[in-house]
Amino acid sequence: MPRYEYRCRTCDNTFELSRPMAESSAPASCPAGHDDTVKLLSAVAVGGTSTGPAPAPSSGGGGGCCGGGCCG
Ligand SMILES: [Zn+2]
Repeated sequence: MPRYEYRCRTCDNTFELSRPMAESSAPASCPAGHDDTVKLLSAVAVGGTSTGPAPAPSSGGGGGCCGGGCCG
């Protein structure tokens, strides 16, 4: 099951959830129970403890040919 990374905007916590792809964009509650969360882009990055700028939140949709240069 794929894992998705989310960020809570209430407590600024980042957490991962394992859930079916069909639920990847479903609302996720943070471990502290807040509902104001945003789904981050791919959580595939390994060993990252980056404190840099937050990744852009996904605005829905998801996938298709974007990124391959065929939808520009
Ligand atoms: Zn929270």
